[in-house]
Amino acid sequence: SSFDAMGLREELLRGIYQFGFEKPSAIQQRAVLPITQGRDVIAQAQSGTGKTSLIAITLCQMLDTTLREVQALVLSPTRELATQTEQNIRAIGDHMSVQAHACIGGKSVGEDMRKLEAGVHIVSGTPGRVFDMIKRRSLRTRNIKTLILDEADEMLNKGFKEQIYDIYRYLPPETQVVLVSATLPHEVLEMTHKFMTDPVRILV
Ligand code: AMP
Repeated sequence: SSFDAMGLREELLRGIYQFGFEKPSAIQQRAVLPITQGRDVIAQAQSGTGKTSLIAITLCQMLDTTLREVQALVLSPTRELATQTEQNIRAIGDHMSVQAHACIGGKSVGEDMRKLEAGVHIVSGTPGRVFDMIKRRSLRTRNIKTLILDEADEMLNKGFKEQIYDIYRYLPPETQVVLVSATLPHEVLEMTHKFMTDPVRILV
């Protein structure tokens, strides 16, 4: 199986190969299609499986770059992971003029507001700062099509449950939800029941 056979945009394929990938990892082989078809997906996968690039590839594929509004939101448990995802989107989307921005605690709120005002397609962030930006109406949620909950079990372990639910309430009702988690404890499954419709389950 190859990236060429996945029906990805030409400019996205160039970014993937430029980044050094030759063929999709197992999770990428199984999850790219259902995600880009708009399905809700539960991917049980650990880090090291290529899950970050799965997120970058699928979000770039689904993006409308002519619309300079936030179209996808990725929530992560740590500032490091949120930044890594932002950088991965920029690298893989290098030939697509993708505007990605990390909204993370510990960085300037004013800088976040300026970046969001200038026009961002994909926000990658930690739940606290993202919710803060939504409440300030700096992060407009009206055009969001996809919510990615990365390392969902870790986000719940860190006490982000309330903030994730708060953020979800601001999203359009038909928002696609993709949940990535190494484990699926009760609280994670509860989120899948509340947020997802007929999800595809993938275990790698
Ligand atoms: P992740 O699970 O996203 O943390 O990725 C683990 C490592 O695998 C990272 O160094 C990625 O750059 C690398 N990786 C992800 N997808 C691929 C792929 N299709 N081919 C080769 N390496 C990959």
